Amino acid sequence: MQKTIAIVGAGLGGLTLARVLQAHGVAATIYEGEASAAARAQGGLLDIHEETGQVALRAAGLYDEFLTLVRPGEDAKRVVDRHGTILFDMPADPGSARPEVDRGELRRLLIDSLAPGTIRWGHKLASVRRRPEGGYVLTFAEGSATRADIVIGADGAWSTVRPLLTPAEPLFSGTCFIEIALTSGGQNFRASVAAIGSGTLMAVAPGKGIIAHRYADGRVRGYVALNKPEEWMRSIDFGDPSAGLRRLADEFDGWSPLLTAFVAESDAEPWLRPVYALPVGLTWDRVPGVTLVGDAAHLMSPFAGEGANLAMYDGADLAGELAGQSDIEVALSAYEERLFPRSSDAAGRSAQNLEIFFGREAPQSVVTLFDHS
Ligand SMILES: Cc1cc2nc3c(=O)[nH]c(=O)nc-3n(C[C@H](O)[C@H](O)[C@H](O)COP(=O)(O)OP(=O)(O)OC[C@H]3O[C@@H](n4cnc5c(N)ncnc54)[C@H](O)[C@@H]3O)c2cc1C
Repeated sequence: MQKTIAIVGAGLGGLTLARVLQAHGVAATIYEGEASAAARAQGGLLDIHEETGQVALRAAGLYDEFLTLVRPGEDAKRVVDRHGTILFDMPADPGSARPEVDRGELRRLLIDSLAPGTIRWGHKLASVRRRPEGGYVLTFAEGSATRADIVIGADGAWSTVRPLLTPAEPLFSGTCFIEIALTSGGQNFRASVAAIGSGTLMAVAPGKGIIAHRYADGRVRGYVALNKPEEWMRSIDFGDPSAGLRRLADEFDGWSPLLTAFVAESDAEPWLRPVYALPVGLTWDRVPGVTLVGDAAHLMSPFAGEGANLAMYDGADLAGELAGQSDIEVALSAYEERLFPRSSDAAGRSAQNLEIFFGREAPQSVVTLFDHS
């Protein structure tokens, strides 16, 4: 009899895992805490790497559909200093090995590719317990419970499955992101929008930065980044968004008004996103019938652009093992043997890049990084 597989979390990692399993004729159920696919805006762009994310999409049989989502021209990158002086300017590359797609559209593609009923929305895992006779009992916040032979934690940064494998928890990196946007297209701030170029603008200095992406339809979305204690960030009252944004803009005193307009005039819900990371090089001992994919396994700062790519790659890699191997423990061991070194490598680069972006040598260190990549 086929083993029952419970995947916790319908992010890019869990969805890719389920899709590739199904492509191999293996059934799996995803338990997702959110009420529906539309419960949360998924905004933001992801560049999908040839050697990881694209490999996963090929394994999922979705590569051609993925190509229809690519946003040509939006992979341009520009680095400026606090005065807006351009230090690095990379034009869009139509043949880029890392094309940009909208995260929400990519997630939608994966969701729509699954057999009907694969995702149980509104199932937030509250606890998971190993049964003495084998397998696991999963209990959900709304009160129901289910059993599974194999449990895969694809439940992101604050994984409920992870404690079965390791006591490690994410630590605050020292950098906070706050979402910013000019969703109306920034008609009143044309000079600021023009300063972005056609892709992503990175205005960085030691301890702070403004990152803005211009979509082909004219909208602008991005982040303010500040190296501050988490308590300081949480002390800003975003209940009054314009006052909160002004306080953030004050941190950029002396910067070009073309840049600070992205902060002071933002019309986005100012979500605070402290950057957390799991310890670089995290591993765990094999525990029967359970493993992790994506952020649950290797949460890292976004500065190597690898998190989503690796989540999908992990999902495809694990699915290939589970589908091709009747001994589950052999499959999980083989997967983890590859997972640990690749996670460690990417997490190490991410941690390094966070320092490159907002450390003492910024913005020159960022220019050097792009010059050498
Ligand atoms: C600001 C920012 C920018 C980023 N930019 C990039 C980038 O450019 N490129 C890139 O590759 N990566 C980027 N990343 C990283 C990327 O977003 C993540 O690495 C990726 O989303 C991880 O996917 P995942 O499937 O592992 O987890 P998630 O996307 O976090 O999905 C986890 C899912 O599990 C669900 N869940 C959580 N807990 C439970 C529970 N108890 N029960 C049931 N369901 C649960 C959640 O609702 C969610 O749907 C960025 C991250 C941030 C914060």
